[in-house]
Amino acid sequence: MSGARGGSCVTSSISARCACGALQFQSTAAPVMQVICHCADCRAATGRSFCETAFFRTGHGAITGPQSVTSFVAASGARTERVACSRCRTVMFDTSNRFPDIIGVLAETIEPPFVAKPACHMWVSSKVAGSDITDGLPQHAEGLS
Ligand SMILES: [Zn+2]
Ligand SMILES: [Zn+2]
Repeated sequence: MSGARGGSCVTSSISARCACGALQFQSTAAPVMQVICHCADCRAATGRSFCETAFFRTGHGAITGPQSVTSFVAASGARTERVACSRCRTVMFDTSNRFPDIIGVLAETIEPPFVAKPACHMWVSSKVAGSDITDGLPQHAEGLS
Protein backbone atom coordinates (compact mmCIF):
# COMPACT_ATOMS: atom_id res chain seq x y z
CA MET A 1 0.00 0.00 0.00
CA SER A 2 1.13 3.55 -0.54
CA GLY A 3 2.41 5.59 2.35
CA ALA A 4 4.02 2.62 4.08
CA ARG A 5 7.52 4.02 3.99
CA GLY A 6 7.20 5.97 7.21
CA GLY A 7 8.83 9.28 7.93
CA SER A 8 11.55 9.25 5.30
CA CYS A 9 9.69 11.04 2.55
CA VAL A 10 10.40 14.69 1.86
CA THR A 11 7.36 16.79 2.56
CA SER A 12 8.88 20.22 2.17
CA SER A 13 6.39 22.34 0.33
CA ILE A 14 6.85 25.95 -0.58
CA SER A 15 4.14 28.36 -1.54
CA ALA A 16 4.22 31.90 -2.80
CA ARG A 17 1.44 34.32 -3.50
CA CYS A 18 0.88 37.83 -4.79
CA ALA A 19 -0.48 40.69 -2.72
CA CYS A 20 -4.12 39.88 -3.53
CA GLY A 21 -3.62 36.12 -3.30
CA ALA A 22 -4.97 35.28 -6.76
CA LEU A 23 -1.63 34.30 -8.29
CA GLN A 24 0.07 31.43 -6.50
CA PHE A 25 3.04 29.14 -6.82
CA GLN A 26 3.59 25.80 -5.18
CA SER A 27 6.77 23.78 -5.21
CA THR A 28 7.33 20.36 -3.75
CA ALA A 29 11.08 20.97 -3.54
CA ALA A 30 13.39 23.60 -2.10
CA PRO A 31 14.93 26.17 -4.43
CA VAL A 32 18.03 25.08 -6.33
CA MET A 33 19.62 28.50 -5.94
CA GLN A 34 18.91 31.90 -4.45
CA VAL A 35 20.49 35.15 -5.55
CA ILE A 36 20.26 38.88 -5.07
CA CYS A 37 20.07 40.59 -8.45
CA HIS A 38 20.95 44.23 -9.06
CA CYS A 39 20.21 44.34 -12.79
CA ALA A 40 18.18 47.15 -14.33
CA ASP A 41 15.41 44.75 -15.34
CA CYS A 42 14.85 43.55 -11.79
CA ARG A 43 14.99 47.07 -10.47
CA ALA A 44 12.45 48.27 -13.02
CA ALA A 45 10.15 45.31 -12.39
CA THR A 46 10.16 45.57 -8.62
CA GLY A 47 10.78 49.27 -8.10
CA ARG A 48 13.58 48.44 -5.66
CA SER A 49 17.31 48.82 -5.76
CA PHE A 50 17.73 45.03 -5.98
CA CYS A 51 15.63 41.90 -5.78
CA GLU A 52 15.98 38.55 -4.12
CA THR A 53 15.03 35.62 -6.28
CA ALA A 54 14.73 31.93 -5.46
CA PHE A 55 15.07 29.58 -8.43
CA PHE A 56 13.03 26.39 -8.58
CA ARG A 57 12.93 23.54 -11.06
CA THR A 58 9.75 23.93 -13.10
CA GLY A 59 9.12 20.20 -12.80
CA HIS A 60 8.65 20.65 -9.04
CA GLY A 61 6.44 23.71 -9.17
CA ALA A 62 3.15 24.92 -10.53
CA ILE A 63 1.70 28.38 -11.10
CA THR A 64 -2.01 28.99 -10.72
CA GLY A 65 -3.98 32.20 -11.11
CA PRO A 66 -4.29 35.17 -13.46
CA GLN A 67 -0.98 35.93 -15.15
CA SER A 68 0.22 39.01 -16.94
CA VAL A 69 3.37 38.18 -18.91
CA THR A 70 5.94 40.69 -20.12
CA SER A 71 8.56 39.40 -22.53
CA PHE A 72 11.84 41.17 -23.24
CA VAL A 73 15.51 40.61 -23.95
CA ALA A 74 17.56 41.01 -20.78
CA ALA A 75 21.00 42.54 -20.40
CA SER A 76 22.43 39.03 -20.64
CA GLY A 77 20.92 38.67 -24.13
CA ALA A 78 18.53 35.98 -22.94
CA ARG A 79 14.85 36.22 -23.74
CA THR A 80 13.20 36.75 -20.42
CA GLU A 81 9.62 36.71 -19.28
CA ARG A 82 8.31 38.35 -16.17
CA VAL A 83 5.02 37.17 -14.79
CA ALA A 84 2.87 39.41 -12.62
CA CYS A 85 -0.58 38.98 -11.16
CA SER A 86 -2.98 40.50 -13.69
CA ARG A 87 -5.16 41.77 -10.83
CA CYS A 88 -2.83 43.37 -8.30
CA ARG A 89 0.25 43.67 -10.60
CA THR A 90 2.59 42.05 -8.06
CA VAL A 91 5.61 40.81 -10.02
CA MET A 92 6.26 37.23 -8.91
CA PHE A 93 8.21 35.20 -11.46
CA ASP A 94 10.86 35.44 -14.09
CA THR A 95 11.98 32.89 -16.62
CA SER A 96 14.82 32.85 -19.14
CA ASN A 97 15.15 30.89 -22.34
CA ARG A 98 18.71 30.18 -21.24
CA PHE A 99 17.45 28.13 -18.30
CA PRO A 100 14.22 26.62 -19.63
CA ASP A 101 13.62 24.27 -16.71
CA ILE A 102 14.14 26.90 -14.01
CA ILE A 103 11.70 29.48 -12.72
CA GLY A 104 12.68 32.44 -10.58
CA VAL A 105 10.30 33.38 -7.79
CA LEU A 106 10.59 36.73 -6.06
CA ALA A 107 11.64 35.74 -2.55
CA GLU A 108 9.42 38.31 -0.84
CA THR A 109 6.32 36.60 -2.24
CA ILE A 110 7.22 33.24 -0.67
CA GLU A 111 5.33 32.53 2.50
CA PRO A 112 6.85 31.63 5.88
CA PRO A 113 8.42 29.49 7.16
CA PHE A 114 10.60 30.01 4.07
CA VAL A 115 13.59 32.21 4.83
CA ALA A 116 15.58 33.62 1.92
CA LYS A 117 19.23 32.55 1.97
CA PRO A 118 20.83 34.09 -1.11
CA ALA A 119 24.16 32.61 -2.20
CA CYS A 120 25.52 35.60 -4.09
CA HIS A 121 24.92 38.95 -5.73
CA MET A 122 24.47 39.23 -9.49
CA TRP A 123 24.82 42.18 -11.87
CA VAL A 124 26.72 44.17 -9.27
CA SER A 125 28.02 46.20 -12.25
CA SER A 126 24.48 47.59 -12.59
CA LYS A 127 23.93 48.25 -8.92
CA VAL A 128 22.49 51.63 -7.96
CA ALA A 129 24.88 54.07 -6.39
CA GLY A 130 24.51 54.20 -2.65
CA SER A 131 23.29 50.63 -2.12
CA ASP A 132 26.38 49.24 -0.46
CA ILE A 133 26.74 45.49 -0.14
CA THR A 134 27.81 44.61 3.37
CA ASP A 135 26.69 41.00 3.75
CA GLY A 136 29.98 39.45 2.62
CA LEU A 137 28.36 37.25 -0.03
CA PRO A 138 30.21 36.64 -3.31
CA GLN A 139 29.60 39.34 -5.92
CA HIS A 140 29.35 38.75 -9.66
CA ALA A 141 29.70 41.73 -11.99
CA GLU A 142 27.20 40.18 -14.37
CA GLY A 143 24.78 37.27 -14.42
CA LEU A 144 25.48 33.59 -14.07
CA SER A 145 25.79 31.80 -17.37
ZN1 LIG B 1 -2.66 39.49 -7.15
ZN1 LIG C 1 18.01 40.85 -12.35
